[in-house]
Amino acid sequence: MKIVVFTGAGVSADSGICTFRGGNGLWDSYRIEDICTADAMLHNREEVIKFYNIRRKELLSVEPNAAHVAISKLEEHFRVQVVTQNIDDLHERAGSSDITHLHGELRKLRSTKDEHLIYPIEGWQQDPTAHSKDDGALLRPFVVFFGEAVPMFEQAAEIVSTADLFIIVGTSLAVYPAASLVNYVRPWVQIYVVDPEVPNVSVPRNPIEYIQMKAAQGMPLLADKLIKEYAKK
Ligand code: NAD
Repeated sequence: MKIVVFTGAGVSADSGICTFRGGNGLWDSYRIEDICTADAMLHNREEVIKFYNIRRKELLSVEPNAAHVAISKLEEHFRVQVVTQNIDDLHERAGSSDITHLHGELRKLRSTKDEHLIYPIEGWQQDPTAHSKDDGALLRPFVVFFGEAVPMFEQAAEIVSTADLFIIVGTSLAVYPAASLVNYVRPWVQIYVVDPEVPNVSVPRNPIEYIQMKAAQGMPLLADKLIKEYAKK
């Protein structure tokens, strides 16, 4: 059985990383148009780099939580693929082995000219004057800004379309095209949603069970239930 886990900012909230929306959401303190757009990267470069430096510094000071660990442990019993909207590396650090990042990775930079030239970054601070050693262009955070294409979308859609069981954790399903991935889940596949709120999962026919809890609490409970119900003895 193949389980696909689709995660958003909420799965990392219990590690102490702010979400975008909801209480303490990042967007209460920043304006999206100032920070997370290609236009901002061009005209407000210093501020954008500073914003992601702060996110990177924060990331280095936190740890995966019980939800990341529970998702990783599912691999002991099932084929598991994680599709995440998050740019943090907490799924990696918890031990998940098959992760597709839809919106990039905070601990990497990329050429401003060529999206395929990607480099790991040491520490948390991007030198704003650093250039790609391959094409000489200035570097930028390896994140997909609002309004930009999502290069990993097709690969993610393919993964989602082969799920035998689909779990959604900590996403408001408000950011497109990522949110439309749920439309690729085959119509008979059971969907579980772990989120203290009830995000609108607009699928016509799938059975959906809502686990209205924080990820670090609800995801380990769900993992135990799935192992009891479906894992081969
Ligand atoms: P979102 O902020 O729109 O929604 C967060 C969701 O998480 C909400 O449904 C909320 O109810 C839920 N939530 C809050 N606390 C939770 C908890 N403790 N446990 C479980 N769920 C909880 O986030 P989104 O849907 O991921 O979309 C916004 C964009 O935010 C994504 O593109 C993502 O790249 C970006 N983002 C990423 C990070 C990160 O990498 N950790 C952090 C902030 C934003």
